[in-house]
Amino acid sequence: MARYTGPVCRLCRRESMKLYLKGDRCFSDKCAYERRSYAPGQHGQRRSKLSDYGIQLREKQKIKRIYGLQEKQFKAYFKEADRQKGVTGTNFLILLERRLDNTVYRLGFANSRSQARQLVRHGHFLVNGRKVNIPSYLLRPGDVIAVREKSRQVGMINEALEALPRRGVMPWLDLDKDKYQGVFRTLPTREEIPLPVQEHLVVEFYSK
Ligand code: SF4
Repeated sequence: MARYTGPVCRLCRRESMKLYLKGDRCFSDKCAYERRSYAPGQHGQRRSKLSDYGIQLREKQKIKRIYGLQEKQFKAYFKEADRQKGVTGTNFLILLERRLDNTVYRLGFANSRSQARQLVRHGHFLVNGRKVNIPSYLLRPGDVIAVREKSRQVGMINEALEALPRRGVMPWLDLDKDKYQGVFRTLPTREEIPLPVQEHLVVEFYSK
């Protein structure tokens, strides 16, 4: 299925939570979810009771939309997480957090994951000194992510860095703002990942 290219604020309203898909706007009073916190569409304000399947589906969609993934990729991460030792739901979130586009966003070089994906695709980043333009590239502890020398003037990157204090840097990452580089220091723990989601419902969804 193709990537969703419609209005993203509808997705927050559908999932009944802020997914932070629009960068700066999400922190302003222009946020559509702050204004209309009910589902989009003609019947959006009706309350409907979800089945167990419906609850699991909504949780899956929520996480998929936060990370901006397509179903096929999302399912592949789940399979990999299931294959690994430990708690599948936690493994799953850790895999998603290891993506290069996500880390570029978390380090503050982009205002949203979709912006991060675009910047990575355009070749603005180095991983351990080598250009990487694959948003799904999985980082390992110790990897150094840097903005390329000639990309340090890119307005989008500098604006995002200025706005970073609002979000803060995640505890598993180190950022050296002056050098335009960060380190993926260690794998995050579940407690460190600030996502109010119930990943076990995704496990239940795919385990049927
Ligand atoms: Fe969601 Fe609000 Fe950001 Fe739109 S502005 S993507 S509704 S958090």
